[in-house]
Order: sequence, then structure tokens, then C-alpha cells
Amino acid sequence: MTKILVIEDENSVRDNLVELLEAEDFETIDAANGKLGINLALTEVPDLILCDLMMPELDGYGVLTTLRQEPLTATIPFIFLTAKATKADFRQGMELGADDYLTKPFTRAELLSAIDGRLKKQATLKQYFSTSPQLKAFNSEMLVVKNILHGAIEQGHFRQFFVEYQPQVDIHSGKIIAAEALLRWQSPELGRVAASELIRLAESTGLIIPIGEWVLESVCQQNQAWQNAGYSPLCIAVNFSARQFTQPDLIKKIIHFLTANNLEPHYLELELTESLIMQDINAAIAIMNELRSLGVKIAVDDFGTGYSSLMYLKKLPINKLKIDRYFIHNVVNDPQKAAITTALIQMGHNLNLQVVAEGVETELDLEFLRQHNCDAMQGFLFSRPVAAAEFQKFLSRSA
Ligand code: C2E
Ligand code: MG
Ligand code: MG
Repeated sequence: MTKILVIEDENSVRDNLVELLEAEDFETIDAANGKLGINLALTEVPDLILCDLMMPELDGYGVLTTLRQEPLTATIPFIFLTAKATKADFRQGMELGADDYLTKPFTRAELLSAIDGRLKKQATLKQYFSTSPQLKAFNSEMLVVKNILHGAIEQGHFRQFFVEYQPQVDIHSGKIIAAEALLRWQSPELGRVAASELIRLAESTGLIIPIGEWVLESVCQQNQAWQNAGYSPLCIAVNFSARQFTQPDLIKKIIHFLTANNLEPHYLELELTESLIMQDINAAIAIMNELRSLGVKIAVDDFGTGYSSLMYLKKLPINKLKIDRYFIHNVVNDPQKAAITTALIQMGHNLNLQVVAEGVETELDLEFLRQHNCDAMQGFLFSRPVAAAEFQKFLSRSA
């Protein structure tokens, strides 16, 4: 039997509705205010909701907003009941995801036709999704995770996020010459979420923009705080993904964070992957040139996994190549990896670029890199990425 939830604060209207719906053989549940309505929706998961727009305390908009955020109730057809429906009310309701409006007083026929229309549409959707159960499971799972991520950055608070720093070390002198900032998310619901997963999720929801901004701001603040505390200045690299790099006011934002923290631009480096650059190479070069003219440094990340052609590489206004850790892992015992790594180092040096090997885990890897004149290394052998307080122990006081 189709279950309908009626949320309406006026007793007489509510009783009438319930009576009418039961006469039509609907199973009916009802609530006298928004809060009770939400609780009932979550526990009973009805097939359709009729909700009064104007109610004291929590109004219909509040009810709809809450239910749309809960995966269990997000897709339940929702019809507003309203005495006065101005165009603005209507728009607001529709933007929040309402499916229909009924203006009071409405006739029995109007009510049944609205309900019938929404239920039919829902049935079609259900049928569509039930033909691909995997897709449905995946979608609802993704929806849950996306909602959790949304919740985590609500109101611009980033309490669940922090940045770890991993040193880059000069292979010949053994000194720390730079660091890479890596985003971390400790979610109460999901635990520690892998950075690659988080970035993929943040890219697909557009949340990468506020999150990336938070990372940039945190890193600029932290770097300046270390300089103020008297440590030798260090360049810190921040990763950028495609959507962040192509946002229109990127340069303005970067200038803002640098000046707000009184940080010289050459202490900031952006890490861009080859695939990001190749999405629109001319646009990328234009942005990179602007960044370089400010003094900000640029590194090509995960180098070797993309196009790696000298043809385009020599056009790029960059400072650094970071060889992907795939090539470095077991480089000593894999002649192919050894040949490629050697060629990548050569390529970088021919273009006057600094070459950093990622994912250096063993002394043997390091020895190979030293022999082949790689400039710097980053990897677990020297240090895993660590929290700011821990990283500070690596920093030396300038004389
Ligand atoms: P990436 O930029 O290539 O970062 C290096 C990754 O290698 C990091 O993984 C780091 O923890 C890991 N790593 C470092 N040394 C070793 C090693 O010796 N062995 C192994 N097996 N791994 C090592 P992580 O932190 O999980 O980050 C994964 C990716 O997520 C990063 O790859 C980067 O593409 C992305 N990412 C991280 N933070 C941010 C961020 O703030 N913004 C953006 N857009 N992307 C980020
Ligand atoms: Mg990186
Ligand atoms: Mg990398």
C-alpha cells in the first residue's frame, strides 16, 4: 500500500486530508509540526510527503532542506501545501527540490491528480534504477559520502582537515630544500580518507574550490609562521587539480594569500600533473606564465605517467620535474624502469630543470639516483608526510 506522510500544523486541515487519503486507500501517517514530520519521514520512509509551507518553528522549507540532505529521504516526492503561493515562494521551493505545489483550498481532484503524477514519475525512476542494481548501490553510497563531505566543510569550518608536510632532500648535500603539502581528512563517519579519494570526490562535487583554497591559505600561513619563528625559509609545494587550476580568479586568490601572509612568492610552488596541463595546453601555459611572472614556482608532478614529450615540455614555464614513484619503486632491479628514469633525469637537465624523484623507499633506490645525478628525493626513506609540529623538528634555525 502506498504510504503518504502529511505534515500540517492546522488540525482541521490535517484531519480532512487524512480522511480523504484513507478513503482512497492510501496508508496515511501525519505530523502536527515540522520536527515530528522529519522524524516520521526518517523512521517510516513514506512514498510521498504532503507538507504545509507555513508552520511555526520549522517551516516547510526547513523540512524539505533537511530531508533532501538525508540519503534515505532525499528522493521522496515532496508536495508543498500553501495558502499563498507567490512567485518567490514557488521558486524557492522548487530550488530546494520540491516536486509540486498545491494552493489551499484545493479540490479533491487536484490533490489526487498531483499525488498520482508524482507517484507515477517516481515509479518510472525506480524501475529505471532497479534494472541496474549496482549503479543504484553505487549512487546511493556516493550520495552518502558526498553529503558527509558537504557537512565537513559547512560554514567554512575545516576542523576535520589538516595538512601534512613531506620533505624534499638534496641528494648530494642531504639537506632539506623544499616540502610538499598534502591534504588529510579525518572524518568522524568515514575515518581517515585517502587523499586521492578525497580529491576525486571534491573534484566531482566542486568542493575542491573551497577545500583547495583552505589548503593554500593554511600552507601560506604556516610557512610564514615558520619564517617568523626564525627558521630558514623554505619553498612549500601545494598540489592543484584541474578544476582548481582553471578557476577564473585563481591568480587573484594566490596574490591575496601571499600578501595577506606577507609571504614572498618564490616560497610557494604549485604542483601540476601532465594530464592537467595537457587538457588545454595553451590555456595552461598562459596561467603558468602569469604565475611565473609573479615569482611563484611550478613543478610537473607524477612526471612520466603522461605525455612526457620533449616537444611540449620545452614550451612549459616550469622549474621542477617530479618523477612518478612508479618508476622509482624497484628501479635498481628493473632494467626498463632504470632506463626510463635515467632518460627522464637527462630530459629534465637538458631543459635546466630541477629533477626530484618521488617515492624513494630504499637506500638502493637512493644510490641509483645519486649515481644518475638526480637532484633531489622525496620518500619514506627520509620521512613520511608528517604533521606541521613534527615537520618543524626538521627545520633549522637560521644563523
Ligand atoms: P602526489 O602529489 O603525487 O603526492 C605524493 C604521494 O606519494 C602522497 O600520497 C605521499 O604520501 C606519497 N608518498 C610519498 N613518499 C612515498 C613513498 O616513499 N612511498 C609511497 N608508496 N608513497 C609515498 P597521498 O598523500 O596519499 O596523496 C595522493 C595524491 O593526492 C597526491 O599525489 C596528490 O595528487 C593528491 N593530493 C594530496 N593533497 C592534495 C591537495 O591539497 N590538493 C590537491 N589538488 N591534490 C592533493
Ligand atoms: Mg604532488
Ligand atoms: Mg606525485
